Amino acid sequence: MELEKIYNPKKSEEKIYEMWEKGGYFTPKIGKAKNFTIIMPPPNANGALHLGHALFVSLQDIMIRYHRMKGDSALWLPGADHAGFETQVVFDKKLEKEGRKKSEIPKNQLLKEMMDFTLENKREMESQLRKLGASCDWTRNKFTLDKDIIETIYATFAKLKKDGLIYKGNRLVNWCTKHQTTLSDVEIRYEEKIDPLYYINYGPFKLATVRPETKFGDTAIAVNPKDKRYKKYVGKEVEVETVLGKAKIEVIADESVDMEFGTGAVKVTPAHDFADYETWQRHKNEIPGPKIVIDKYGKMNELAGPYQGMKIGEAREKIVQDMIAKGLLDEKATEKNYKHNVAVCYKCGTIIEPTLMDNQWFVKMTDPPANGKLSLRDLAVNAVKKGEIKFIPKRFEKIFLQWMEKLRDWNISRQIPWGIPIPEQGNDEQVFDTWFSSGQWPFATLQNTQKGDFEYFYPTSVMETGADILFFWVARMVMLGIYTTGKVPFKNVYLHGLVRDKDKQKMSKSKGNVINPLGVVDEYGADALRMALVFANSPGQDIPFSEDKIIAQKRFANKIWNAARFVMAQTENEKPKMKNEKPKTKADEEILKALREATKEITKNIEDFQFHEAAQKIYHFFWHTFCDVYIEECKKENNPEVLLYVLRESLKLLHPFMPFITEQIYQMLPNKDAKVLIIAPWPE
Ligand SMILES: [Zn+2]
Repeated sequence: MELEKIYNPKKSEEKIYEMWEKGGYFTPKIGKAKNFTIIMPPPNANGALHLGHALFVSLQDIMIRYHRMKGDSALWLPGADHAGFETQVVFDKKLEKEGRKKSEIPKNQLLKEMMDFTLENKREMESQLRKLGASCDWTRNKFTLDKDIIETIYATFAKLKKDGLIYKGNRLVNWCTKHQTTLSDVEIRYEEKIDPLYYINYGPFKLATVRPETKFGDTAIAVNPKDKRYKKYVGKEVEVETVLGKAKIEVIADESVDMEFGTGAVKVTPAHDFADYETWQRHKNEIPGPKIVIDKYGKMNELAGPYQGMKIGEAREKIVQDMIAKGLLDEKATEKNYKHNVAVCYKCGTIIEPTLMDNQWFVKMTDPPANGKLSLRDLAVNAVKKGEIKFIPKRFEKIFLQWMEKLRDWNISRQIPWGIPIPEQGNDEQVFDTWFSSGQWPFATLQNTQKGDFEYFYPTSVMETGADILFFWVARMVMLGIYTTGKVPFKNVYLHGLVRDKDKQKMSKSKGNVINPLGVVDEYGADALRMALVFANSPGQDIPFSEDKIIAQKRFANKIWNAARFVMAQTENEKPKMKNEKPKTKADEEILKALREATKEITKNIEDFQFHEAAQKIYHFFWHTFCDVYIEECKKENNPEVLLYVLRESLKLLHPFMPFITEQIYQMLPNKDAKVLIIAPWPE
């Protein structure tokens, strides 16, 4: 059969995908001795797929296709994430663009609109995954808002509660005044800021602070117990003059106070500072509780007297002026360029206001459950230390363990409409942190697909995801997975880096350096994009990427096509046997030897998660050994059997990387050893 002169990916990719999907090749047969499972990180159903998604599709599909060809029960389970806060942010922006106010839309209508928006994105995303060639099992597709998934999430919540690992409390939380929601510790970033450090005259003390506006919420002054300067005041009340008049305030001694910072005396504002909140916890019997002076919109409240209603920055400026006028501030001492780290919302950069809030649900991370078993943290740490979970690259193991050391309780309540409602909470309507549901994904999916799936496919083989969500997601999956099922959710964690532009800059719309994966698929084909993404990508490293790299792989696709055309033309009148690699010439011997070696190395590279090395080897073997040397030799004297054999086996080695063109050519081979390449046996 003759191949068309020029390979046109657009013409064949869709048809091939349809043939695979309809043929049921993505659905594994249960019961084989070996299985290989990947749960796809469910993309957020709030927009189009980007290059990061294309990268994970390429890497995961390589593993799945390889194992399928090896004869394993290879399951790649796809899904989509409603992505709580992430989707809320995208949707809020959409409303803003349309000139609509979220607060004016009835909640039912808002939720319906958000569901329509999410489902529409989900459909679009699924068609994009197909375009990229993802050979995932669509018959097991799951969504984080499926009824059965929500039931599983609730069951885990109930179990945590029963074990005493959940508590509801009035606690200080990370609050974004723009997004009007709490955030967990991993959802905040720290930014270095330069602000003035003021010295306030406070009775007999001079207090250093960058936030004079919070002083209406002061409940004590703290000094270090070793500080001789202040010993005589400890345990006593002192009278202080403030912008609001005279006040009395207690002096306490606390080891946490740094004698070297400022004057060694600090104010304690438990309602608006995490460290101060902890100080108060240690001195509960000595000093009054938190006094809230800033509301949830970042404005001063009634306790701030004349400053009520002002925004934080505005109030700060005014208070400083008034203090100067009253002689309450040591102007000369002000350090104008004081550098400090400030927590900001990871999404919008707004400064996080530590805020005291009611009805906050927390998961205990470091306390053991009531039944005396290990804490969530220790379950995960033990499993990793015992080698039950391996990290690729290995350095992430250390990063993971270090982070687990610093773990604090996890605030899982969010005050946004979009998400899974927290059950049994009375009239305050909050939803779960979206990572609380996605943190259960590996077992929640497999427990709700087909009967026997969980028993057969869990623990899964590999979790392949971005290094940037190691703490957001991977750590939570490990903890909740072991806690709920008694087993690790996956045996390997492979982490990839970010796809950056050729100058290693982050890709962003505002910089205009974004490559749209679906756009390049239309232009060069999915194979070229996939190969380009994998070719230069070593585990854990960011990848500098540009269209040139896709063009180079498009050329490689053309090379494969032309080589196949040549081989087919040479063997047109031959009827090669099925197994026949009898060398006749020296060139035959050499190509067969090179193929055996390449096969061995590529197989090992894939097993070792070194996909870039495997990709480079098959590229060089095909282009430089097979085409440049052997095919050239064949133009003098050819051995059709060996030619066909080497082409066929090369297509198999190439298939996980470039699935479409290889399948297209394989279909035309006279010496096929399977109905379709996707299930052809991997070369030995
Ligand atoms: Zn925010």
